[in-house]
Amino acid sequence: MDFTGELHGRLVLPHDPDWHTARMAWQLAVDQQPAAVVFAASAQDVSATVLAAVQMGLRVAPQGTGHNAAPLGPLDRTVLLRTDRLDEISVNPLTRIARVGAGVRWLELTDAASKYGLMALAGSAADVGVVGYTLGGGVSWFARSHGLAANQVVAADVVLADGTLVRADAHHHPDLFWALRGGGGIAGIVTALEFRLFPMTEVQAGLLAWPIEQAPTVLSAWRRWVDDVPDQVTSVGRMLRLPPLPDLPEPLRGRSLVAIEAVCDLPAPQTDTLLSPLRALAPELDTFGPTAVGDLHLLHMDPPYPVPAAGDGMLLSGLPSGALAAFLGMTGAGRDLPLLSVELRHLGGALRPGVVGGGAVDGLDAEFALFAAGITPDAASVVAVHAVLDELRMALSPWEAATGYRNFVERSREDFDPPQVAARLRAVKAAYDPGDLIHANHPVRVSRGNEGPVRGPAR
Ligand SMILES: Cc1cc2nc3c(=O)[nH]c(=O)nc-3n(C[C@H](O)[C@H](O)[C@H](O)COP(=O)(O)OP(=O)(O)OC[C@H]3O[C@@H](n4cnc5c(N)ncnc54)[C@H](O)[C@@H]3O)c2cc1C
Repeated sequence: MDFTGELHGRLVLPHDPDWHTARMAWQLAVDQQPAAVVFAASAQDVSATVLAAVQMGLRVAPQGTGHNAAPLGPLDRTVLLRTDRLDEISVNPLTRIARVGAGVRWLELTDAASKYGLMALAGSAADVGVVGYTLGGGVSWFARSHGLAANQVVAADVVLADGTLVRADAHHHPDLFWALRGGGGIAGIVTALEFRLFPMTEVQAGLLAWPIEQAPTVLSAWRRWVDDVPDQVTSVGRMLRLPPLPDLPEPLRGRSLVAIEAVCDLPAPQTDTLLSPLRALAPELDTFGPTAVGDLHLLHMDPPYPVPAAGDGMLLSGLPSGALAAFLGMTGAGRDLPLLSVELRHLGGALRPGVVGGGAVDGLDAEFALFAAGITPDAASVVAVHAVLDELRMALSPWEAATGYRNFVERSREDFDPPQVAARLRAVKAAYDPGDLIHANHPVRVSRGNEGPVRGPAR
C-alpha cells in the first residue's frame, strides 16, 4: 500500500511475521483474509488509510475488536482498519460526558466512569468495543430504564470516504449523526465518540439458577414475572450448557442450567419482594445482592478473551405460551445442543421506540431479544451450530418481530429497519459514501435516489 501521508501506526502485509495475529478477530472462528491490516494510531492515520485505499481501488473495514466480524464476508479487496490504538478516554464529571477513542473497550470506560460515581450504558461483556456496540444500538443492563446506548451519543469525530475528518452532532452533519446512532458504521469511520453518563454507583444484581430440567417451570414463572416488573429491572432468562472450564465458578462448571439474571436499580427490600416468586422456586444458586455498577461485566459470564464461536439472534414481538413452548422444545433438557447459551433478554420500558429520542434506531419494537451462541473450534462445529441456529429461528419465526437488532445478528441480513428508516439510511450512505468504500458488518446498499433529501458531506 502506498500512503501519501505519514502513518504513525502500522501497516501489516501478508508477508509480515505478525500477519496472522494482525488479521485475527475476537471471534476466532472467523478467518479474516484482508488485503492489508492498518493499526491506526490517530485520526490522521485513518484519513491516510482511506486515501490510500481509494487510490488502490480497495475498501476499508473499521474494526474495534472483531466481536461482530462474522457477517463481514470476504475481505480480499478490503483494508482491515484496526482501531485498538485509538485508546483515548476522558470523563468529565461536571457535564457527565465521556469521550472515547474508537479502540476503547467497555471495561476501560466503566472503570474510568466508576471513579466519578458514574454509570455508562455498557453491554454485558467487558471487552466489547464501545464504538461498535454503540453504533449498532447498545442493549445494556439499564436498557429498560435508559433505552439504547446510541440514544446517549452527543457527538462523533468521523473520517469520511474522501478522507476528511468531521464532527457529527445535532448541528453538524445531522444526517450522518442520525445514521450513526443505531444504523451502524455504514457511512463514515468513527475515530472518537462522546456520550452521556449517569450518576449511579450500586444496584441490586445477581443470578438465580436451577438444573435445566426445571426450565419449563422457571421460564414460565419468569415470563409472568416480567409482565409486572418496573422499568428499573432489566432481566435475562437463559439456557446454559457450560463446558467444564476451570475459569468458571465451581457450581456452574460443566453444568446444564436454566438461569435468570437481573439488574434492579431499586432498594434492596423492594428487590427482595420482587424476587420472592422466583426464589419460591428454590434456585440452587442465588447470587443476588448489592453490586457495584463497575462489576456488572461479571454477571453474564461472557468470555473475557477471544473465543472461536458462532451466534445469531432475533427479536420477538412477544413470548406467549406457544412461543415459550417452541423455545423450550428447541433448547430444553431433552435436546443435545451445541449451544453454550440461548438467552431471552426482556425489552420494553425505555427501549420502546420514541420513549427516549435518538437517531436511526432509537428503540427496539419488540418484547424480547433472543441470542444464541455455541463454541466452534473447527469448521464442522460452525456448520452444526449454524444448523441449530436456523432451526431455532424457524421454530420461533411465528413470533419474530418485523424489525431486527444489528448487534445480535452475526450473519448476513439486511431487514433490520422499518421501510422509512431503511430508505433514509440508504440516502445517507449514498450522500456520504457513494463509492461504497466503507465495508461494514451490516451494510446498506447505496441508494439510487428517490429516498428524500440528505445533505452530503459539504464542509
Ligand atoms: C460476548 C458478547 C457479548 C455481547 N453483549 C452485548 C450486549 O450486552 N448488548 C449489546 O447490545 N450487544 C452485545 N454484543 C454484541 C456487540 O455489541 C456487537 O457484536 C458489536 O458489533 C461489537 O462491537 P465491536 O466494536 O466490539 O466489534 P467489531 O466487530 O470490531 O465491530 C462491529 C462493526 O461495528 C462497526 N464499527 C466498529 N468500529 C467502528 C468505527 N470506528 N467506525 C465505524 N464503524 C465501526 C463496523 O461495521 C464493524 O464491522 C455482544 C457480543 C458478544 C460476542
